[in-house]
Amino acid sequence: MKKIFIIFGPPGSGKGTHSARLACSYNIAHLSTGEMLRQKASDEERALMKKGILVSDNRLVELLRVRIQNSDCDNGFILDGFPRNLLQVELLDNLLKEQSLSLEAVIALEAPEDVLLSRLSGRRFCPNCSNNYHLTYDPPEQDGFCSCGFELRQRADDNSETIRARLRVFKEETIPLLDVYSLRSLPIIHVVSAGEINDVQKIIYERVQSTLLLSRFV
Ligand code: ADP
Ligand code: ZN
Repeated sequence: MKKIFIIFGPPGSGKGTHSARLACSYNIAHLSTGEMLRQKASDEERALMKKGILVSDNRLVELLRVRIQNSDCDNGFILDGFPRNLLQVELLDNLLKEQSLSLEAVIALEAPEDVLLSRLSGRRFCPNCSNNYHLTYDPPEQDGFCSCGFELRQRADDNSETIRARLRVFKEETIPLLDVYSLRSLPIIHVVSAGEINDVQKIIYERVQSTLLLSRFV
């Protein structure tokens, strides 16, 4: 059976980092809608993203519908950044039903707002190899440059105004999804992700493992 997870959490909670690690542990695909959009967005969509506003729901489902046909999704996938509002929950339900797939669990990350703000404002990425750094927590060896030699950049939406907008959109549109999923017989794995990356990763992995084991027996 395919392992399908949703990772849920505010911007800066570490969804990208932990999805990538979990995907590696289970040999499943890491599907980040933010990443898909950064590669494929139209000018109009880029303008929305720069303001921290959500882009069209249907557009994302279509991107996902195509993406999950890829062979790297054969064992399953982890959805990072989707669904993000109530309509997307419905669209995802339809998409999964249509493909006879079902969700295994929702992993819900949380961290205090000051941690989120400092993580996002200090985040830098490499446009060449997509490596991520943080000015304080994970600084590059050479100031301002990736180990591959390229100059590091800041994401267009990691400025303080857009960060505030993204947190607001998360509170208003995305948090209510937890209630929706809680009402289903679906495990929700709450993890505080304010600590060290490796510690948090270990906790997530252990909790996911026990959830998978349990679900095989009930
Ligand atoms: P974060 O979750 O850290 O804010 P992402 O990289 O997941 O960042 O998303 C960046 C931007 O991409 C969002 O602010 C939004 O504009 C757009 N986006 C990503 N996923 C979705 C989605 N499911 N629905 C609508 N817009 C999305
Ligand atoms: Zn690089």
